[in-house]
Amino acid sequence: MSGPRFRIAPSPTGFFHVGGARTALYNWALARRLGGTFVLRIEDTDEARNRPEWTQGIIDALAWIGISSDDPAFEGPYFQSANAALHVAAAHRLFEAGHAYYCDLSPEEIQARAKASGKPGYDGYSRARGLAAGPGRVLRFKVPEGTTVVHDAVRGDVVFANDTIEDFVLLRGNGTPIFMLANVVDDIEMHISHVLRAEEHLPNTPKQQMLWEALGEAPPVWAHVPVVVNEQRKKLSKRRDKVALEGYRDEGYLPEAMVNYLMTLGWAPKGDAEIVPWSQIERDFRIEDVTHSPAFFDIKKLTAFNGEYIRALSVEAFIAACQPFVEAATVPWPQERFDPAVFAAIAPLVQTRVGTLAEVPRMVDFLFLPDPEIDPQAHAKALGSAGAREVLAATVAAYAAVETWDADSLKATLEEIGAANGMKLGKAQAPIRVAITGRSVGPPLFEALELLGRDETLRRLRAIEATSG
Ligand code: GLU
Repeated sequence: MSGPRFRIAPSPTGFFHVGGARTALYNWALARRLGGTFVLRIEDTDEARNRPEWTQGIIDALAWIGISSDDPAFEGPYFQSANAALHVAAAHRLFEAGHAYYCDLSPEEIQARAKASGKPGYDGYSRARGLAAGPGRVLRFKVPEGTTVVHDAVRGDVVFANDTIEDFVLLRGNGTPIFMLANVVDDIEMHISHVLRAEEHLPNTPKQQMLWEALGEAPPVWAHVPVVVNEQRKKLSKRRDKVALEGYRDEGYLPEAMVNYLMTLGWAPKGDAEIVPWSQIERDFRIEDVTHSPAFFDIKKLTAFNGEYIRALSVEAFIAACQPFVEAATVPWPQERFDPAVFAAIAPLVQTRVGTLAEVPRMVDFLFLPDPEIDPQAHAKALGSAGAREVLAATVAAYAAVETWDADSLKATLEEIGAANGMKLGKAQAPIRVAITGRSVGPPLFEALELLGRDETLRRLRAIEATSG
């Protein structure tokens, strides 16, 4: 075995979280740069909450952000549940070596003792009672005196007073191991050298470090990366925030943009540019450069990143990336009206204007809908202003007669009409755009008209002429 060994240890209890994806990418960048290994361990011991499809979801989500199980740096997935016998054996070793003891107190008895003494938590009552294993007896770790110093590569030395840590449970009354033990035994078993994970696990770390030491092992390099928060500076939560990586994929965020953005949650590439290719990230990412402060998951910024990545695609690649969005069952137009050639023609104009691929159908729907719905507010604004109706009438007449139906002629024509009515082009365009697209914003108008064709343009202009308001 060569090189450092990193891991992520997600529990398959829900969608893969963007914070988890950030942690995975940090581990991946280091494993790749240092010629090490990235281990995927599925912590599936919480039977009540696990579902096998979430495991596949994790693997797919990782693959989407470039962490592929085909890469030689990737190892796993391993399943924690397969190691239960090892976890129990380690607990027994700890008992034999005097690092753990059995206890038969009920939760009520523990509470009563805590109340009587005024000190919360378990007081170590059974430490010296010499109980043997037995049904209903939990195995507890004997927390040593003194302090535990966690050397954290992000946060520096974090000192914990051991008298604030109760003798924690290793095996439940039914003999099954608890998470803390399983997590450490697996890390030892898998020769993990670096535990880089979310800050919320820092409070567990002194206990885990004690277990590493009691099991005769030198602890790994610890690195706790900052919590990811929302606009209100609250930790991103499943209930409140959009946290599923999948959700971003389905909205048309490009994986490269997502990866680049996630890396900046707690770290910044060298130099001025934040938008940098993975090759540079992999070369430059260092644990020591990760910040302590909470990282704000800013969807606006992510979308701006995504827009940049979308614009950097070749037109062909953009069209290909749009396929699942324009041919999906959710598009507003009848499937048979979609014309790939028309879409290919408008695509370069759309590419410059969207932040996500999910915005694309709304930008082009007017080309494939028989009669786009007219937004009443856009209608009132564009057609209610002084001179709008005159411009519309003059445009219908002029467009019926214009010699060449192309964007330049259509633009020049409308410019003239606007000038004759004392309007700049932007203002003169408004009623035309609403008539054609139903909305006040969309792709560049004259190119859109060129694609739509003379007959359909005139039909829509006349239809809106006939409306009141
Ligand atoms: N299974 C734990 C979780 O999903 C991970 C613990 C760890 O990374 O050590 O939160």
